[in-house]
Amino acid sequence: MFGILSALTAGGIAGIAVAAAIVLFFLVLIIRTMCHRGKIEEIAKVKNDDIDKDRATKHLQEAVRIPTVSMVDEFVDNKEPFINYREWIKASYPEIVKQAELTVIKDYSLIWHIKGSNPSLKPGCFLSHIDVVPAPVKGWEHDPFSGDLTEDGYIYGRGSQDMKGHMIALLEALEYHLEHGKKFERDIYLCFGHDEEPPQSNEGASSICAYLKKKGIEMEFVVDEGGTVLDGSILGIPRTVALIGAAEKGNGDFEIVVKKAGGHASNPKPPTADGILAECIRLIEHNRSKARWTYLTKEMFKTLAPHANPLFKFFFINRDVFSPLLKFVFTVAAPMTNALIRTTYAPTVLWGSEARNTIPMEAKVNVNYRMITGETMEDAKAYLEKILHKYVKKGWVEVHPCQYSNPSVEADIHCFAYKQIDKSIQQTFDNIVVAPYPFIAASDARFYNPLTDNVFRFGPFINSLDDTSRIHGINERQHVDNLAKAVQFFITCLENTCGNGVKD
Ligand SMILES: [Zn+2]
Repeated sequence: MFGILSALTAGGIAGIAVAAAIVLFFLVLIIRTMCHRGKIEEIAKVKNDDIDKDRATKHLQEAVRIPTVSMVDEFVDNKEPFINYREWIKASYPEIVKQAELTVIKDYSLIWHIKGSNPSLKPGCFLSHIDVVPAPVKGWEHDPFSGDLTEDGYIYGRGSQDMKGHMIALLEALEYHLEHGKKFERDIYLCFGHDEEPPQSNEGASSICAYLKKKGIEMEFVVDEGGTVLDGSILGIPRTVALIGAAEKGNGDFEIVVKKAGGHASNPKPPTADGILAECIRLIEHNRSKARWTYLTKEMFKTLAPHANPLFKFFFINRDVFSPLLKFVFTVAAPMTNALIRTTYAPTVLWGSEARNTIPMEAKVNVNYRMITGETMEDAKAYLEKILHKYVKKGWVEVHPCQYSNPSVEADIHCFAYKQIDKSIQQTFDNIVVAPYPFIAASDARFYNPLTDNVFRFGPFINSLDDTSRIHGINERQHVDNLAKAVQFFITCLENTCGNGVKD
């Protein structure tokens, strides 16, 4: 009896000790959370009351009406709109034309260069692209190249968001400064490529960059489209969250090729090449590559933590302790959050038999992949070969790399330019929190790393989810109030990054 009692007592003591250790552990995490001193500074807004909103609206309407659809494959003859677009810029922005030097690259891409007063400063570079994706008329409420303005203030048309809205806001802002007699200290380059959209073509941005590099020009910073503006509530933040893309995932394609005996469809012998290919696609979709926190995702948590509600703040600050849980949440929360923490693989184009009654000897699928920082094409190939191992080892399946570009450099978010872009966002938009993140798509910006490590992606438009879902789809549109805000952003950003008294 005594033995049982003493055993119970020992068990009880052990239980109490474990409970105490757990309480202590959480206490430490809570104290750690409370001690975290992130900065929450309210920055005064800047408002230029004499921005000509009607002119910006009219200019975006006119820009949309010039159908600069990307020139590849069937659009190869669509040269005239690109020339018309260049002439339209010249006619619409007289001060820029007067004060900037224009260089045309590869016939359609444009560089506008304005000299600053201080040659010891490296130039600032603002990007945009002239081309738009095709827009078949079916399903549009307004013709995709009408530039129609609706009574509720939307400009309809292809490119109104991606990315003529951005370009017009930038041009309006620069024209505004020049009309007001502004002299910039830093040289300013506006670089507009002509073939950002088609994945198989990137002559514009790469040639602009090669031209500038050959001239020995180094940039202080580059700003392109990209970035994301989110409703912060999904991250426990009662504000809008603006994410600046301070790196870009790599991207590329693999062809997964299945080789197997084909034959007449009347006497099939499974597994056929098609059947194995289907299983390969299932395996690619079913498996997930390893999740990792990069420098930028860690910085994102650090920056957002002070603004989050106590629960989210607790998890953000103690990310190292709750890493598996946070990775799980990011994986299942949304495709975008999943893409932030791992390399993704998406089957896209399929090839199989050319005849309805023939089993193919070869079937293949294109897999488009987006590499997280720290991984390379070789890593991605090794991953696919691993998950398809049972077919690869039989010699039935091969993974063939196609074009690819590795992830970009991660920019330093403590540099001058990042701080000024961050400040400009806060000076322009109400109730907003700014944080860095790795941009999950691709932009022309990835070609500019030879000119500087400080390459950032941010489009100054707070559009609804409904509106952003129209990009590359039907009924793409831009609200005139959002356009005016974007003009204000660029006026402020040009001043902060290139105006008087700037220093690196
Ligand atoms: Zn774009």
